[in-house]
Amino acid sequence: MISEDNIQQFKTLIENAENIAVIPHRNPDGDAIGSALALWHILRRMGKNARVISPNEFPSFLHWLPGSEEIIAFESYPDDVKRILDRCDLVFTLDFNALHRAGDQMQLYLEQLQTKFIMIDHHQMPDDYAAVTFSDVNYGSTCELLYDILVTSGFNQYLDADSATCIYTGIVTDSGSFKFTKTTGHTHRVVADLIDYGVDNPQIHINLFNNNSYNQLQLLGRALNQLKITGNNKVAYTFLSQNDLNEFHYQKGDTEGIVNYGLSIEGIELAVIFIEQKQEGIIKISFRSQGDIDVNQFARTHFNGGGHINAAGGKSFHSLQQTIEDFETIINSEF
Ligand code: 5GP
Ligand code: MN
Repeated sequence: MISEDNIQQFKTLIENAENIAVIPHRNPDGDAIGSALALWHILRRMGKNARVISPNEFPSFLHWLPGSEEIIAFESYPDDVKRILDRCDLVFTLDFNALHRAGDQMQLYLEQLQTKFIMIDHHQMPDDYAAVTFSDVNYGSTCELLYDILVTSGFNQYLDADSATCIYTGIVTDSGSFKFTKTTGHTHRVVADLIDYGVDNPQIHINLFNNNSYNQLQLLGRALNQLKITGNNKVAYTFLSQNDLNEFHYQKGDTEGIVNYGLSIEGIELAVIFIEQKQEGIIKISFRSQGDIDVNQFARTHFNGGGHINAAGGKSFHSLQQTIEDFETIINSEF
């Protein structure tokens, strides 16, 4: 997927550009912010005037990443971001492949730009908006794909401990600390290279995972208490109402990873969490599976979403209770 043609265009577009925007998806995770910041470090070292523009504010568990203080959020500073985008002669979209993943308002603004786009992403079914599309679902993370692009283009000469730290972070978070199925020998060889660039790997794990607040653990406890098993003992789901979130002073990122606990029960193949978001008027749903259950397809078919085979998300516009009833009905007919 990293064709010679793509690499040539990638290099030419960067070399000819002066002002470059680097955009992760809305509600960015470690891979989205990690890949965006890594590329930003590289571009800065090449002498480019680059900016990371996040569609909305990014979660606090990533605030320690080098360069993260320079990120500007579209939904917090729309006018400033529009001015930056108007000046850009190249736009990168990282860890997403459809402009609606930048959120409604930012999507509209991106669609009317005349600027060339470069997509670097590992999700299924990329849209066709980019002049150069690096898209490969065989990669476990956009960060690993970015690393290979940097090596192939020779731009790895600009790697340093900071950019390597950002890439390492995306690989760790998207691979579930190197345990998901797309973690290959190549993944580990990339990680070995990154450590040689000076990445402090034990500290990164502490920064990423030993940063819970007391309230966050209490919220996790509530979700575990509300866990239900269904679908011939193959499906575990839980939910958090807006009241649950309020009770434990929910902060962005607090529900990250809760869905995975369902899968840790022996025999469970599909785990789901429903999270009520009263302000947005939706129920946000996360799906995780192991084995052959394709949650990307499940989320697309039933819940306005998508993602990967074993990790996907979606949403419902019904009430929390109705959404769970709908889900039970689907499960009863499919499991
Ligand atoms: P999460 O459950 O952590 O929000 O998302 C899991 C995976 O599914 C991520 O790779 C994410 O990109 C994808 N995903 C989450 N929500 C949506 C959605 O609403 N639409 C699509 N197409 N993908 C989603
Ligand atoms: Mn990713």
